[in-house]
Amino acid sequence: MAISTSTLGRDAQGASMAKAFDPARIRAQFPALHQEVNGKPLIYLDSAATSQKPQAVLDALDHYYEHDNANVHRGIHELSRRSTEAFEGARGKVAGWIGADDPAEVIWTRGTTEALNLVASAWGLDNVHEGDEIVLSVLEHHSNIVPWQLLAQRTGARLRYIELDDQGRLILDDLPKLLTERTKIVAISHVSNALGTVNPVKDIATAAHEVDALVVVDGAQGAVHADVDVRELGVDFYALSGHKMCGPTGCGALWGRRDLLEAMSPYQGGGEMIHVVGRDESTWAELPHKFEAGTPNIAGAIGFGAAVDYLSDIGMDAIQAHERQLMEYALEQIRAVDAVRVYGPDSLDEHSAVVSFTLGDAHPHDISTILDAEGVAIRAGHHCAQLVMKHFGIAATARASFYLYNTKDDVDRLIAGLSTVGGIFG
Ligand code: PMP
Repeated sequence: MAISTSTLGRDAQGASMAKAFDPARIRAQFPALHQEVNGKPLIYLDSAATSQKPQAVLDALDHYYEHDNANVHRGIHELSRRSTEAFEGARGKVAGWIGADDPAEVIWTRGTTEALNLVASAWGLDNVHEGDEIVLSVLEHHSNIVPWQLLAQRTGARLRYIELDDQGRLILDDLPKLLTERTKIVAISHVSNALGTVNPVKDIATAAHEVDALVVVDGAQGAVHADVDVRELGVDFYALSGHKMCGPTGCGALWGRRDLLEAMSPYQGGGEMIHVVGRDESTWAELPHKFEAGTPNIAGAIGFGAAVDYLSDIGMDAIQAHERQLMEYALEQIRAVDAVRVYGPDSLDEHSAVVSFTLGDAHPHDISTILDAEGVAIRAGHHCAQLVMKHFGIAATARASFYLYNTKDDVDRLIAGLSTVGGIFG
């Protein structure tokens, strides 16, 4: 796929050496890919919604439930000890994955959505006031819009938007006008799920910090495809979802700068997050537990850690190189289909592993239905990015998204399916 390592935060010299990448071997490790759908071999092109899971992750989940299942932290018995060790070990893996110095800066959440809500509530409600401004972009997933709308409505703050150009890229020339001494937060996606646009987060963070605004990154599609280094990017918070990167659903993480997390009030109250509970008030546990009320998603975190191990073992530079080749081929092939319009950046350097398109007058839902009959799974709709659709004056697109287990054959099956669509609607 096509994210430049420098754009995502770790320069090419810092990346580990690429290992030999064998797509057939990788594909064999994902059991769900080996089935027929509607009588045809499944081609899964919906990884931006959720990725498939390799056997190594499924085994880690099974192992946990079969051998180590116990609640974490509180128990003084062998299973609880093992479970805690695996759970906290996974936190360290995720911290390492995004270049965080300290696992205590990684808070487990249900996913990116909860991570962003956590920042909006726990940091926002204490620090954002009437007349303050929050800068977002038109490119955002609803998860990185609605929490800030709720915050703005509660505090009297105002939302301002970075607009898009005709290739779905942020118009950064407007940034100096948008960033003022009133800006408290700049909340921006690393990579757009709707168009695949890769945003220059590091440059945005530098500009935002000049006006002392915090930078919150929606990394749901960022940490998936390349090495991410939060320190190198210079951001303040980074949110991610395990299920987009080969991990189980229901577990994600928020990374935050320690000084900010220390100063923040808890997000939710309950067990695990307290130090001492009195009748009228309580004191809080140390980081990261202060933000993790109740029994966490233990298996989810362990599975997320196993996914990090799996991807690290293959090597993100090798995965990136494979995805870039695939995207080059896919974009070329899809653009050549009659009546197709592709939305998103022209340059591969700015385009992640997502192709969003329309085909003549065919409704994207019809495109997806016809492809499904051919065993090809894509997504159709607004992709939780209604502002993007509005920008292009459309209601929906069809979206094919690629990951490490996809091959050129998958692209060919997609193109064959699109010619069937063209035959019906042409
Ligand atoms: N942001 C982006 C860019 C996404 O692609 C997604 C998932 N589609 C989210 C946020 C929300 O992630 P989750 O549903 O895992 O919380």
